[in-house]
Amino acid sequence: MAVIGFIGLGNMGGPMAKNLLKSGHTVYAFDLSQAALDEVVNVGGVAASSAAQACEKAEVVISMLPAGKHVQSVYQGEGGLLAQLAEGVLVLDASTIDAGTACEVGSAAAERGIDFMDTPVSGGVAAAQAGTLAFMCGGSAEAFARARPILEAMGNGEKIFHAGPAGAGQVAKAANNMLLAIHMIGTCEALSMGAAHGLEPAVLSDIMKASSGNNWSLQVYNPWPDVMPDVPSSKDYQPGFMVDLMVKDLGLANKVADDADIKNTMGKLALSLYRDHQEQGNGQRDFSSILEQVRKP
Ligand code: NAD
Repeated sequence: MAVIGFIGLGNMGGPMAKNLLKSGHTVYAFDLSQAALDEVVNVGGVAASSAAQACEKAEVVISMLPAGKHVQSVYQGEGGLLAQLAEGVLVLDASTIDAGTACEVGSAAAERGIDFMDTPVSGGVAAAQAGTLAFMCGGSAEAFARARPILEAMGNGEKIFHAGPAGAGQVAKAANNMLLAIHMIGTCEALSMGAAHGLEPAVLSDIMKASSGNNWSLQVYNPWPDVMPDVPSSKDYQPGFMVDLMVKDLGLANKVADDADIKNTMGKLALSLYRDHQEQGNGQRDFSSILEQVRKP
């Protein structure tokens, strides 16, 4: 069992830290929010008063922070962790951030003999709580081998992937979420078109699931209200996965595409549609509510 310093105990990090504790790891925890910290301390985490203190004895450091600027500041800012971590410590950043920042922090860590991996996740809060997250990891094969048993305490062993070198985890995450946004919008358009011509959305969904239009949104996350029980569309689009986060992820994905001169027509259209939806006050609703942008009133 490892001694772990865990930084960022929000909607995702909190349950991930709890699952590490359940597996018998020691977790020194830090968050700027006292309430978030208390949640983890109440189930056996050790409270730290700073990120640096949380990592004093750590063999492994895990961070789950909102964006690249937070990751950069925690690791490379004033009093940042890279300057104080011992050689040989394994650092896993599970936040969704831009691949450029992940590579930059990764190479600064490598210069100090610290193994850094970007390990963004897929699965959302429910999977974080259930310990069934998917992890897409960027870094060396050696770091991946060390990380796997730790990640297995928070994720599904069959969904822990070594995507490639530093930054590759973030590229994989950006590619996946861009595809998710595009097929969710496509699914909403197909269902709206069918319904406007008198088809039952549930019947059309079954037809497309049995045909070549089949996709994840149809299988487990149908955006049309009351076609499926217990999905956000049947619960007034309570998240789930918020529009705000989809806008963030599409921004990162388009940057990844632009950096490689990829003509990202659909990804850019998806971002513009989700931004419009966000600006109309839907940022905190589930991303499948994009149906309302295409459905005939
Ligand atoms: P969140 O806002 O709930 O949690 C982030 C936490 O980080 C907060 O508790 C905040 O206080 C803390 N924090 C910020 N700066 C800090 C600092 N300098 N030191 C210590 N703590 C600090 O966000 P979340 O939903 O848990 O998401 C975390 C990351 O996971 C994001 O990058 C997000 O894109 C990604 N993600 C989220 C989901 C989801 O469904 N929520 C799914 C997949 C990936």
